[in-house]
Amino acid sequence: MTRPLNYKVALIVPVFNEQENIEHFVTQVKKILESELEHLHVVFIDDGSKDNSAAIINKLIEQEPNLISLIALSRNFGKEAAMSAAIDLINADAYIPIDVDMQDPIELILDFIKYWRDDGYDSVCGERVDRSQDSGLKRVSSGGFYYIFNKLSLRIKIPENVGDFRLMDKKVVKAVRSLSEGNRFMKALYAWPGFSMKLVPYQRPKRFAGTTKWNYWRLWNFALDGIVGFSSLPLRVWSYIGTLVGVVAFIYMIYILTTTLLFGSDVPGYASLMCVVLFLGAVQLVSIGVLGEYIGRISQEVKKRPVYIVNKITGKLQDDYNRENVVGIVADDKQNKHNT
Ligand code: UDP
Ligand code: MG
Repeated sequence: MTRPLNYKVALIVPVFNEQENIEHFVTQVKKILESELEHLHVVFIDDGSKDNSAAIINKLIEQEPNLISLIALSRNFGKEAAMSAAIDLINADAYIPIDVDMQDPIELILDFIKYWRDDGYDSVCGERVDRSQDSGLKRVSSGGFYYIFNKLSLRIKIPENVGDFRLMDKKVVKAVRSLSEGNRFMKALYAWPGFSMKLVPYQRPKRFAGTTKWNYWRLWNFALDGIVGFSSLPLRVWSYIGTLVGVVAFIYMIYILTTTLLFGSDVPGYASLMCVVLFLGAVQLVSIGVLGEYIGRISQEVKKRPVYIVNKITGKLQDDYNRENVVGIVADDKQNKHNT
């Protein structure tokens, strides 16, 4: 398998209040990658930062106009939307989403490139082998999530301990772009097209500076997005549970009718009655809740709101981005301005 000789590699770097990390990240990228990769493009996506992140990136663009670009979103849309904007807009042969906080080791990119270029893999993903930096609760909840997701989602499996840090060939990205849902659970969307995949193990270090943007409530909703977006089993299971409870109830009814007819009725039965009423009430509420999770997301999807709004593009990306792929809106699109 041969890849184009002058292949273009784009680093996709979502940034939300990361002023302490950006300069260090760029220094490391230059040190480790610049001499190895001829056409390297580092595209930051400012996901509505409130700190100096955008100013720092703009300063770096002035120093490195051929290396760095910035897609500034109009507010905080979340990391998933930020990555969607980047893969829609950028034109490259290989795409690498990477965090700016140094938790995704930059050296690993050279291995990614090797597997992609020399061995012909279409996706090369970093696999965290050591999660000792994560809290026990995070490890257990994340393991549980992958287990449940892969059990419920029949066709799309996401490898455990694989985050967004990976390399994707442009054909994978082209397929991902064609997925039009507003619910951007990128890990599964990246896995959806299939193609060949290689896992590269790595140790996940601590954040260089700053704090994580994910709390447990956000992670829980993120997990629900993933499961609800890729499986309808939680919806369908209620008809089976309903049937089972119905069969048991029917057998119990026959038993009660028979004993009443044969031995007469005995009035006590309050405790069993309460148990059945409360149990079935709970089952019904849970099933309505599951319906709610799906209906809520359907109502989000039918509104067809753009996944992101790009406020401004700075750097060399400005002259060469894919207008036809944009599923959000680029507010400062120069070409459109000329047309109107
Ligand atoms: N991030 C983002 N938008 C958000 C939250 C996070 O663009 O709403 C970026 C963040 O700046 C970082 C990456 O996503 O580059 C990963 O975030 P973080 O390190 O907080 O996640 P963790 O590594 O703890 O999972
Ligand atoms: Mg991080």
